[in-house]
Amino acid sequence: MNSDEKIQRWVRPQLRALNAYHVPDATGLIKLDAMENPYSLPGELTSEWLECLREVELNRYPDPAARALRAALAVDLNLPAGQDILLGNGSDELIQILAMVLGGVDRTILAPEPGFSMYRIIAGVLQTPFKGVPLKADFTLDMDAMCAAIEHYQPAVIFLAYPNNPTGNMWSRADVEEVLRLAPGPVIIDEAYAPFAADSFIPDLGRYDNLLVLRTVSKLGLAGLRLGMLLGPVAWLAEFDKARLPYNINVLTQASALFALQHADVFAAQAQCICAERAHLLAALGAMKGIRPWPSATNFILFETPPGQATDIFSAIREQGVLIKNLSAPGRLQDSLRVTVGRPEDNSAFLEALKTALERAPA
Ligand SMILES: *Cc1c(COP(=O)(O)O)cnc(C)c1O
Repeated sequence: MNSDEKIQRWVRPQLRALNAYHVPDATGLIKLDAMENPYSLPGELTSEWLECLREVELNRYPDPAARALRAALAVDLNLPAGQDILLGNGSDELIQILAMVLGGVDRTILAPEPGFSMYRIIAGVLQTPFKGVPLKADFTLDMDAMCAAIEHYQPAVIFLAYPNNPTGNMWSRADVEEVLRLAPGPVIIDEAYAPFAADSFIPDLGRYDNLLVLRTVSKLGLAGLRLGMLLGPVAWLAEFDKARLPYNINVLTQASALFALQHADVFAAQAQCICAERAHLLAALGAMKGIRPWPSATNFILFETPPGQATDIFSAIREQGVLIKNLSAPGRLQDSLRVTVGRPEDNSAFLEALKTALERAPA
C-alpha cells in the first residue's frame, strides 16, 4: 500500500473532503484583511514589556490554570459573582473546545449566516452537523427562522457573534434575549469586537443559566498573543475545562497579557482612534458611486460593489498594494468585500486604490 492509499484508508473521509483554512500571503502589502489593530505598543512601553518578559522562566511549564491572569481579567472585565473564566489559545480554541464537549454526530451547532466561518469549519472537523440560519436582507436576525430552527434542531449550542462578522452589525438585544430563552442549551455570545461596540452581555451573566460570553484580545491589538476567554457559570466551565489541554496558554502569553492589562488605557485609546477612522472611512465609501457600505460596530466595514465586479475590484486593489478580504460567493455576500479599518494613511491608500479600480471597471 503506497502513501496515498494509506491516506485514503485512514484519514476520516469527512476530513479528507475539507480544505485547510487558507490565509493569503500579505508580504509587502498594506494589510487590511484580518481585523488587526494597526497600532503597536508605544516605544517606552515596548521596553517595559521586554523587561517584564526577562523574568519569565522558559524552562518551566506555565501555570496550567493561569491564576494570576484570570484574576486580573475578572477585575478588568467586571465579572459577575458565580461566574468564571476559561482561557483559550485564541477564542478559536474555545470554540473548538465547546464543539468537542457539546457536539457529536447526533447534535447540531447553530449560528446565523453570513457569520463567523470558524463555527461551521470546526463543526465540520468534529463531524457535528451545522445549521446556518439565514439573516434577513438587512442582516438583522430573522427571528421567525431562528425560532423555527431552534424548535426543529434543538441545537446543542448556538453561537451569536455580537457584533457580527462579516456584516459588522449588532443584533437587537431583545432578539438575543429571546434566543437565550428559547435555546435548549448554551448560547455563546461572541464579543470579539467588544472594543469597538457599545453593548455587552457580560453584565447579564448569571441572569440566564445558559448564557456564556466569548472574548478575545486579538481585535484589541494583541492578535499575536493568541488569547481568548470564555466567561460563564462555574459549573459549565468546569465541564469545558476537561477538554482543554493543560498548558494551552504559554508563559509568554500569560506574562504579556498581564502586562497589557496594566496598560488597558493605551489599548482603549487606540480603539477610540480606530472608531473615529471608521466614521471617516464609512463616509468616504458612502460618497463613492457604485459602492454601498454597511454601518459597522466593529473595526471593519463590509461594502457592496457594482454587480459582478467584486473579485475584479478586489484584485485591482491588491495590485495597487492593499490587501482586503474578498467575500463574494454565490448567495447573500455576492458583490461583497470587507476592509479592516487601518491607520489614516492605510485607509487613504485603500480609498485611492478602490477609486482607481472603479474607474478601470467596465461601466
Ligand atoms: C476574529 C474572531 C474570532 C477569533 O478570535 P481569536 O481569538 O483570534 O481566535 C472569534 N470570533 C469572531 C466573531 C471573530 O471575528
